[in-house]
Amino acid sequence: MKTAQILEKLVKFNTVDDKDNSGITKFLSTFLTPLGFKIQMVKNKTNNKINLLAKYNKKKPVLTFSGHTDTVPETTQWTQDPFNLTSKGDKLYGLGTSDMKGGIASILATIQNTNLNKLNKGLNLVFTYGEEVDLSGVQDFLKKVKLKTKYVILAEDTGLKPRTGSKGAYAIKIEFQGKAAHGSEVNKGVNAILIAQEFIEKVKKLFVKVQQQKNSLFAIPFSTLNIAKIAGGDLINRVPAYCCLDLEYRTVTQIQGIRIYQEILKILQAMNCKFKISLDLQIRPMITKNKDFISVLEKITKAKVYGGNGTTEGSFYSKYGYDCIILGPGSGMAHEPNEFITKNQLIEAEQVYKKVITTICK
Ligand SMILES: [Zn+2]
Repeated sequence: MKTAQILEKLVKFNTVDDKDNSGITKFLSTFLTPLGFKIQMVKNKTNNKINLLAKYNKKKPVLTFSGHTDTVPETTQWTQDPFNLTSKGDKLYGLGTSDMKGGIASILATIQNTNLNKLNKGLNLVFTYGEEVDLSGVQDFLKKVKLKTKYVILAEDTGLKPRTGSKGAYAIKIEFQGKAAHGSEVNKGVNAILIAQEFIEKVKKLFVKVQQQKNSLFAIPFSTLNIAKIAGGDLINRVPAYCCLDLEYRTVTQIQGIRIYQEILKILQAMNCKFKISLDLQIRPMITKNKDFISVLEKITKAKVYGGNGTTEGSFYSKYGYDCIILGPGSGMAHEPNEFITKNQLIEAEQVYKKVITTICK
């Protein structure tokens, strides 16, 4: 099967994250079993979402390709059928073509056209669920399965340039408690919105300091803060007794994330206010340093490694000690209406993946 034909089949499965992904994983396992792969399905608690591990492991495995099977929801701005691959010139339109069914199709086509039996080392393929929602699939998978591999290639869209960095992500919720009073007697109340405002000013100052620490691997080379959501108050004539604030920050070094959290705690304690805080998300950045792996991929792709500002499943592979590089076909159309991939990228991806397999598993 050609890459575009495989992609057509993958796009037909509606894997918007609230749907179950048993159809696509069944397709993957039917495709890979005759090629000599052993299939292991790793299901979530409610049995409706599956991580699939395919092992070509007669010989010691050193390499793993990984991709997520889910997509973001289609938007109303789509003018094509998102679940039917449509070809126009060099472009193939469909939901997930860039993010990241194009990458998965390229892996499958490469595997089909490579004589794995001739190689001295084995390989694995991992297909996960839930990447677009909460990255729960890969976390559940790595908790349950001890993956035998040294290197991981995450086939997300990088325009086939090797990406060795993805940022850490931390999300914090703070609930400020004030004291209600009549709007005409503000002196009798404690305004929770104003406490939140004071806190925001202090945390902005903290980030001026934090941002002095730079990591040039990333396009935005420092940690960033996003004051994302704020809600408080009810009546025009009442002093607000409650304000809830959600903020998120993206980090560029391994220890920064938790240090920033501790600094935020210190700020809150020094403010002498009533608050509740929860750290709802903590993902360390992926920063891959393995020189051998980097030089192989730079040579094959004829491109320099770089870091992207987003957070990826790569953080979890790196947390479990695997060297991960993100490398996949695409046109930077992730999450956009009328997402497409070019036929040329698919051809190039197959050439690149074939070289990666024959070099690393030789
Ligand atoms: Zn993706």
